[in-house]
Amino acid sequence: MDNTEPITRRRRDRPECPKARLLRRVGGALWARVCPRVCVDTRVCPRVCSARALSLNINVPGVYLSYPFCAQKCTYCNFSSGVFPRDLEVRYREALAREIRAHHFAWTPGTVYLGGGTPSNLAPDALRALLRPIPGHPWAEATIEAAPGNIAPVTARAWADAGINRVSLGVQSFVEKELRRTGRTHTAQVVSGEIAVLRAAGIHNINIDLIAGLSGQTEASWRESLDWVERLAPEHVSVYMLEVDEDSRLGKEMLLGGVRYGALDTPSGDATADFYELAVERLAALGIARYEISNFARPGFESRHNLKYWKLEPYVGFGADAHSFDGRTRHQNPESVEDYLSGAGQVAGWGAGHINAVPHRSDERFFVGLRLSAGIRPAPEEWRRFDAPIHRFLDAGLLETDGATLRLTKRGVLLSNEVFQEFLNL
Ligand code: SF4
Repeated sequence: MDNTEPITRRRRDRPECPKARLLRRVGGALWARVCPRVCVDTRVCPRVCSARALSLNINVPGVYLSYPFCAQKCTYCNFSSGVFPRDLEVRYREALAREIRAHHFAWTPGTVYLGGGTPSNLAPDALRALLRPIPGHPWAEATIEAAPGNIAPVTARAWADAGINRVSLGVQSFVEKELRRTGRTHTAQVVSGEIAVLRAAGIHNINIDLIAGLSGQTEASWRESLDWVERLAPEHVSVYMLEVDEDSRLGKEMLLGGVRYGALDTPSGDATADFYELAVERLAALGIARYEISNFARPGFESRHNLKYWKLEPYVGFGADAHSFDGRTRHQNPESVEDYLSGAGQVAGWGAGHINAVPHRSDERFFVGLRLSAGIRPAPEEWRRFDAPIHRFLDAGLLETDGATLRLTKRGVLLSNEVFQEFLNL
């Protein structure tokens, strides 16, 4: 390839970026303004255009920002996130901004995801400052996780202006008794009002998180939460089956006794699985189909960012406990805020300064890819390598195949941890 060719000649002779073609039709000035570095060919363009890459199904890395600060510690939560002193939060924001600025973006991210913790507690100015160094605005998908209860119209507009086009609401339940036991203070009416606020601000991709198995949950109360989902018509729903961790406050109460968090009133594993199945049927009837074990979406609203995790596509994470994957190696930032802050000066993106760098394992494709309803298409050597467990699970009715694709059955979804464990142990 002769890079001394004039750019105009290269544009004419090579396939053109569809985004550029569309914009050229609209008008040259706009084209130049929106895409000053027209990616005539991804082999030439050093900053792969996310629109072209998405249209060609090229893997464009995603960006994850971790904001592990919450207004309260939920009783079931075992994440390293929580309530920290104010000055620590300020120091963390500065360190996070430093880490993002230090990263050499040799590519344009297609997706951005702010998770936590509760990144919706970030002031709009602080949010803008963190997003500014990330190229690619407006991103194809930019999500912020939000705790219901604080989303004012001015907040929603600030998010939309900053490029946020998807909001994931940590609703967990629409039933007040269940919510109070988790430590959450919102109500179903608050969630309803805030979804209207988000839509008025132009944010039309909304996820609602629900948890099956909360303390005090019954089939009737679970149906009540699903009724609210029908009423609010979100584009995406995540349903998690609660597994109580002994390090959470709820878990400690289960082990040591007590009545404060309702440990004695937690549904059995079987009841929780029934609630999950009920949700699968109800959401399917609403046109919100399961595409991953815990994730359901209307067509076209599957989370582009989270799909990268399950399809083993690259992403880079910034902040405490953030993970990165460059296609070959996984990296993890220090887990606690304190450890992250003490090492933040050295952390500089993929591979540099991260701890726990481990080579990617080929069997990951099995236990990550099988989470997807579409399943995986094993390569011939994978069929041979995993022949024994595949046939054991096919015989047990936990996996199914059409000869080329392998996927979990309905029962296999409920026992997925056992299936994944088997592939991990090989
Ligand atoms: S569940 Fe979410 S909001 Fe609650 S403490 Fe954990 S990270 Fe924070």
